Amino acid sequence: MIIIIGVVTAQPNAARALCRSLVAWYRRNRRDLPWRRGRDPYRVWVSEIMLQQTTVRAVVPYFERFVRVFPSLQALAAARLDDVLAEWSGLGYYRRARHLHEAARLIVKQHRGRFPRRLEEALALPGIGRYTAGAILSIAYGQPLPVVDGNVARVLSRLCLVRGPRSSAREKKLWSAAADLVAAADVPGDLNQALMELGATVCAPFGPSCPKCPLRRACRARAAGLQERVPSPRRLTRPTVAVRADVAVVTRAGRLLLRRRPDQSLMHGLWEFPTIPSGGVDDGLRVELRESLATIRHSITYRRLELRVRPARLLSEPPRDRYRWVRPGDLRRLPASSLVRKIMTAVGARTDRRTGSWTFDRPLRLC
Ligand code: SF4
Repeated sequence: MIIIIGVVTAQPNAARALCRSLVAWYRRNRRDLPWRRGRDPYRVWVSEIMLQQTTVRAVVPYFERFVRVFPSLQALAAARLDDVLAEWSGLGYYRRARHLHEAARLIVKQHRGRFPRRLEEALALPGIGRYTAGAILSIAYGQPLPVVDGNVARVLSRLCLVRGPRSSAREKKLWSAAADLVAAADVPGDLNQALMELGATVCAPFGPSCPKCPLRRACRARAAGLQERVPSPRRLTRPTVAVRADVAVVTRAGRLLLRRRPDQSLMHGLWEFPTIPSGGVDDGLRVELRESLATIRHSITYRRLELRVRPARLLSEPPRDRYRWVRPGDLRRLPASSLVRKIMTAVGARTDRRTGSWTFDRPLRLC
């Protein structure tokens, strides 16, 4: 058995052999994902940002569309932020898109439009931390930099039997093990991707498929029968908060009224249906709410929203600076969260192809 931590340098051949079998497994078993076809740093970067806190399955269609609309770093830098957010609409965690856009502009200005090769320059860009920098520079440029995300941390915790609660000492050990491994790899980017892929598909949080694992003979957790108990379960850091509110669906001449989220708010700049607290007034909008048509549940970070979707009649004209009447064609170009689409579905909103207006399956009284 190979013990990784602190011993790799004493057993370089064994570490190299372990890396080789892991990479060979990866090349045989990797999923065919659009960002893996080539090593263009721009595409690797976009994929790594999209994959933060989002599943591969959800990311694939967004990635394909995003790189079609913004095929290069220069195209992204030249785009308007609103257009970037519109392409991100529904993917969540919109700060990622803002950072991506801001960083693209900085790269054009400071690095002649090429993603920087030096670690400290990559880390200086907005939205790029140690993991993301390591992933991009190792995959795109072949640099022997380690990565430790949730999947890799689980694999390494088990491989090296790093026990105990999450702590900075534990983090340090995992990064050190990842660094030892990538230093022994012939192709650092493939080694890192192999660790990620193994964690995503074989070394699952529950019920890891050890018989299929290329690391099974070296794995200390498996040898000790502890693969189900390492790593320790994550403790919830923040309790969830239940939020109940009414959502006003106001229509006029086949258009829908949306509001732009104010600066400093969560998801600022995105368009949404107005939410109405008791009293019928929200951000300058006065409405009379009708009976609820549906209740929608939606999660945003730690908030669990329960929203009653209610047709509404305007009692005064909405302020023009933050409200807008929207046709179907407009909505495709505006940044809006997936909640807007859920509400559209709840009221049966469809496009009337003849007029380009909205029609509704549910009874909305027009005002
Ligand atoms: S042998 Fe099992 S526990 Fe160990 S790394 Fe492989 S899948 Fe994970």
